[in-house]
Amino acid sequence: MLEINDLHATVAAKPILRGLSLSIKPGEIHAIMGPNGAGKSTLAYTLGGRPAYEVTAGSVTFDGADLLAMDPHERAAAGLFLGFQYPVEIPGVSFVQFLRESLNAQRKARGEAPLSGGEFLKLVREKAGLLRMDMEMLKRPVNVGFSGGEKKRAEMVQMGILDPKLAVLDETDSGLDIDALRIVGDGINTIMRRPDKAVLLITHYQRLLDTVKPDFVHVLAGGRIVRTGGPELAHQLEDEGYEAVAA
Ligand code: ADP
Ligand code: MG
Ligand code: MG
Repeated sequence: MLEINDLHATVAAKPILRGLSLSIKPGEIHAIMGPNGAGKSTLAYTLGGRPAYEVTAGSVTFDGADLLAMDPHERAAAGLFLGFQYPVEIPGVSFVQFLRESLNAQRKARGEAPLSGGEFLKLVREKAGLLRMDMEMLKRPVNVGFSGGEKKRAEMVQMGILDPKLAVLDETDSGLDIDALRIVGDGINTIMRRPDKAVLLITHYQRLLDTVKPDFVHVLAGGRIVRTGGPELAHQLEDEGYEAVAA
C-alpha cells in the first residue's frame, strides 16, 4: 500500500529525512516512535504534500501510484488521511460544514455524486457516536475552544467520514486523558483495523499501542528508521529510552 524508498526531505532548506525507507502492506498497523526532532512530523507532512517540505531524493508509491507527483488534494482523494499533531482552528466554519465540504470534495475528485443532506447526517451521527462526540459540539466552529481530547476525537470523526485507505496519525494520543485515549484507540481500530486499510501511527508513548496493537514498531532517529521490531520494541523503548535502543 505504501512503499517509501530512500526518502530525503528538507524543511526550509534544512535536511531532515535522510534515507528513510518503509513498506506498509494492506491490513498492517505500523508505529513510528522516536525522540523529539527526529523527523516524525516531517515524515507525515512530506507524505501529505505540505508546502515547504521538499523531497530531494527517493520515492513514495501509494497504492501503485507515485504519491510525490500528486497535489495534496489528490493524495486525499486517493485515500490518504493525515491526522495532525496540532489540529488547526477554523473560526466561522462549523465542523459539520467542514466535514461535508471535505467529503464532497473527495467524492467529486473520485467522480462520485455528493451525499444528500440526510445521508450525510446519518453518516456523521454514526461516526460521532463511535467517538462519543456530541453532535452539538460538531455544530461549533472547527476546533475553536475544543479541548485537546475533543480536537483529537473530532479528527477521528473526520477520519471515519472520509474512510481513507491509509491513515498517518501524528501523535493522536498527545493531550489525551486515559478515557479519551481508549475512545480514540477504539475508534482507530473500528475505522481502520481492516484487511484493506493500513495505519502509520506516530507516537511518543507506548500507551496508545495497548489499544491499537501495532504489527511493527519502528524507531526513527536522525531522519531514518534505525530499528524495526514488534510490539515488544515499544515496551523496550519505554523502559530503556531512545538513546539506549536506537544507538
Ligand atoms: P518530530 O516530529 O520527530 O519531533 P519534526 O519533524 O517536527 O520532529 O522536526 C524535525 C526537525 O525539523 C527539527 O529539528 C525541527 O526543528 C525542524 N523543523 C521542523 N519544521 C521546521 C520549519 N518549518 N523550519 C525549520 N526547521 C523545522
Ligand atoms: Mg515532536
Ligand atoms: Mg512531531
